[in-house]
Formats: sequence, C-alpha cells, structure tokens
Amino acid sequence: MTSCSGCISTLFSLDIFPQFFEKTEIAYFPYIRDEEKLGSYDIALIEGCITQEFQIRLIQEIRRAARKVYSLGSCAVLGGLISLSKKKKVDPLSNFIEVDGIIPGCPPPSNLFGNCLMNLLENKMIKLSNKNQCYSCPLREGFDYEFKSKITKLIPNSRDINSTQNPKCFLSQGVLCLGPVTREGCDNKCINKGMPCDGCLGSPSKSLFSNIFNFLSLLDLSNDLKTYEGIFYRYSKPSIKR
Ligand code: SF4
Ligand code: SF4
Repeated sequence: MTSCSGCISTLFSLDIFPQFFEKTEIAYFPYIRDEEKLGSYDIALIEGCITQEFQIRLIQEIRRAARKVYSLGSCAVLGGLISLSKKKKVDPLSNFIEVDGIIPGCPPPSNLFGNCLMNLLENKMIKLSNKNQCYSCPLREGFDYEFKSKITKLIPNSRDINSTQNPKCFLSQGVLCLGPVTREGCDNKCINKGMPCDGCLGSPSKSLFSNIFNFLSLLDLSNDLKTYEGIFYRYSKPSIKR
C-alpha cells in the first residue's frame, strides 16, 4: 500500500531471510514482479497504509484470499509517517479489514521481525511484549517518576548524542522520550544510539495517540512543544473505525 518500502527492504536484509525464502513459496510480491491477479494464500504480509480508495478494495480482496493477514510495519499498523501530512487521509489496515496480527516498527527491528516470521512459519501466533520501552531501557535507573524536568527538546544536542558520560534518562535531560507509552521489543535501538524513543512500535495497550496525549499531560512542556503536532502525528492519527 502507501509506503516507502523500507519494511520490505528490511525483510531482504534479515539474517533469517534465506531460511524464510527456503521454507516459503512467495506467491504474490508486486514489489519485485508484476502480478496478474490474486490467488489464494496461507499468509499475507501487507506493508503500507491506506490513502486511496482502490487500496481498500485490494486489501479486502487479499483478506478473502489469505488464511492469515498481518500488518507489516508502522504504516500498516498505525498509519505511519504519512500521518504527518495535513492533506492526506491516512488509515491503518485494521480500519477496513480484520488482521490476525501485527509486525510493528518503522521499519520493524531485525530481531523482532525475524522472530515474528519464524513464528508464522511454525504456525504460531505473533507475540509482542506488553511492557514499555522503559522496562528494558539501559537509562531507566534515572527515570524521574515525578516528571520534574521541563521538556524543551525533541532530540538531544548533537554533542550529547555520542557522549557516554553519565547517560541519563532523556526525560531528566529535558528531551522528550516516548518510551513510557511505547511497546518494548526493539532492543532499545534508538536509545542505545543516543536518541530518544519516538513511538514507532506503538503502544502495548490502547491507541498510541491517546497514550501520548495522556502522557504529555503529565509533563511540563515548553510552549514550542505544546503546539508541535508532529509529536502526535508522527506515526498515527486518531481515526474512527468504519
Ligand atoms: S513503516 Fe516505516 S519503513 Fe515501513 S514502509 Fe512505513 S515509513 Fe517505510
Ligand atoms: S523515558 Fe526513555 S530514556 Fe527514560 S527510561 Fe524510559 S525509555 Fe529510557
């Protein structure tokens, strides 16, 4: 669907891709070859969000053609980065079809992605953590439960990014980190690289948007951040199920 194809590119780069390829028969893959029409499938992985009418019909056809359907990547799961657009109407797949599971992330982190695929090949359900990023975060010791620091930045200063001296929880440094409302499962990839969590894996419960909204209400945000819509719309828009 509408996407940057980053999730599919990640699929090719997974260590387990050769194994995955050996154990599956790839029956329909418009990214790499022209297809005439849909057949019937055991599993469909769909990347991308819905921004056009024809895509609704297409995913409904795929739903009828496949025994199991999975949303692949934050665009398919939540709406994704295109939610930042003020002009485009963006929906996740689940607003139009029933999905059997999700593989979240932008793109999905390699370990999580690989484990999900292996589960599918073994006919098991995809299991995602119901804990948040802070649970496994290397900086969690400095987490301030009273949220005393004023939050003024979305990213740290470049000189701080590679600094290994006394790394502290981003919130205590005045940098917005969405770890408290984001599902863990990426091995804290961004945090280990000196960047705060921006929520790409979605929330372990309820909608990412409403969790961000509630979380921000606890923080002392600078005026700039209070009016910055990109915090909310980075990966999802509030939407009504049709
Ligand atoms: S989830 Fe991220 S990497 Fe995957 S298609 Fe969407 S924007 Fe690209
Ligand atoms: S808020 Fe961010 S930096 Fe702080 S403990 Fe949670 S995930 Fe780690």
